[in-house]
Parts: sequence; structure tokens; C-alpha cells
Amino acid sequence: MSAVEIPVAPPAPSRRRVERDARERRKLEKRLVRLTAQAITDYAMIEPGDRVMVCLSGGKDSYGLLEMLRILQARAPVAFDLVAVNLDQKQPGFPAHVLPDYLRGLDVPFHIETQDTYSIVQRLIPEGKTMCSLCSRLRRGVLYRVATELGATKIALGHHRDDILGTFFLNLFYGGRIKAMPPKLVSDDGRHVVIRPLAYVPEDDLARYAQDRQFPIIPCNLCGSQENLQRKQVKNMVAEWERRFPGRTENVFRALARVTPSHLMDRTLFDFMTLQADGRSNPDGDIAFDDDPGACAPAE
Ligand code: SF4
Repeated sequence: MSAVEIPVAPPAPSRRRVERDARERRKLEKRLVRLTAQAITDYAMIEPGDRVMVCLSGGKDSYGLLEMLRILQARAPVAFDLVAVNLDQKQPGFPAHVLPDYLRGLDVPFHIETQDTYSIVQRLIPEGKTMCSLCSRLRRGVLYRVATELGATKIALGHHRDDILGTFFLNLFYGGRIKAMPPKLVSDDGRHVVIRPLAYVPEDDLARYAQDRQFPIIPCNLCGSQENLQRKQVKNMVAEWERRFPGRTENVFRALARVTPSHLMDRTLFDFMTLQADGRSNPDGDIAFDDDPGACAPAE
């Protein structure tokens, strides 16, 4: 006769461990708030009296965005309003109660817009093709209309640092352009200002924060669409770089805000045509005859 196994409960974490975890969680939130506040300030994203429409998809980034804006709203010297908006696109299995329940619990004003963009996308995109670009375009149109109806002066999206970097590399590799995702822009209908307050925040931090806060995540694959393959490859490339050369991601990201048009080749950004020697020295200018600093760098 075999012995009966009695399940043993895992040992409770020590008090020291519990305190350390709580400290880490506080530190993470502080960092997220600091980075968000910095981006808002650097790009003048929010002005006194703004009514900010926070687009909530139910993903980790949008929950993090709403939380950061709520914290800053309570602390910031400028007064602004928030209204959370979710677009129910009628994807099969979308748990329509999750966001309203969550938002009611927070006491945040919100609006749920129901629009069956899912059927439109299904009808127009051939099977097996990625649906995300049409889906996002339709979503954007609806959200702009809702922003007007709600009197929103700003539309806040949850894109983070790694979305911006990923878009930069996609444009570079597949579009032949130096172009990323702006932290602030005027919408393509020319009527709204769109802001990305999480522009400085790394995705890993948002993922940890979502876990700490136990946000009720709704997956963005209910439609059955596959993640864009090129975006996935770029994401893997950046992750692999960061693993092998820690700090590279942040370095490339910082470069996006430190552009030297005179050292690129875009004639619309720098007037090469009328460039003349003016006899004034420029200590930051090109050291034209120095070695290319990359030429002798050790192979990676
Ligand atoms: S994953 Fe689905 S819901 Fe999300 S953007 Fe793509 S098509 Fe739209």
C-alpha cells in the first residue's frame, strides 16, 4: 500500500521579504510617476483647464496610464479633468463589464462607446491577413468623434518608450525613414491634440506595475489577429541587444531627442544649398578630418 501524501503549504514569506517587496513596489510607482511627469512637462502635454480623454483598452499600458494621470491630477499644481473612454469593438468574448466595474470602483468619470468595428474588419480583410492596421484606423476615427462629443481637449494614449523605439526601427528597416512615434501630435483630422504621457516609461516597468496592482487585463487578441511579425522581430532584436549590451535601448531612445540635422542628409531639415564658411569657429561643429569614431571601435 502506498503512503498517502499530505500536501505541504508553501512557507509564508518572511516579514523582511514582505517589507522589501512593498518598498520595491513603492519605488516602481515613484519612478513611473516621475517619468510620466517629466514627459508631460518636457512636451507641454497638459495645460490648466484641459479635459483629458484617457483611452482605455483594458491592456496593461492603458491601466498604467490612467493610474499615472490620476496620481498626477491629485498632485499637480495645474487643474485638469480626466474622462476615461473605452471602445467596445464587439470582439467575440469581450468582457464588457470589466472596465465599467473597474472605473466605477475608482470613481473616475467614464464613457463606453460601442461600435462594431470587428465585423467591418472581418468583412474587409482576407482571412490570414493581419487586421490591426484597419482596426486601429477605425478605432482612431471613432475615438476622435467621441473626443469631440465629450469636449475633450487632449486625447491620451498609453504608448510607452518601447512602442516609440519599435516604431522607429520599423520605419528605419522597412520604410526607409527616420521617424518614430511623437509624444504629442495633432490628429490627422487636424482637430485634436494627442498625447503620450508614458513616452519615457519602459514597457517592463508597466508590466510589473500591472502585476503589482492586479489590473483586470483584457487581452487584445480576442479578434484572433496575430501580432505583426515585423514588430515582433524588432522587439526581439531590441531585447537581445539589451541583454548583450545593457543600456543600449535607453541610449538609442535618448538619441531620438538629440538630433543633429546638419549631420544627417535631409535637405528639408538643413540648408546645405546655401551653406558657406562664415569665419566663426564652432566648438560643437563637425571635426571633418577626424577618424570616423566607429571605424576603430572593437567588434561587438
Ligand atoms: S489585435 Fe485585434 S483588436 Fe487589437 S488592434 Fe489588432 S485587430 Fe484590433
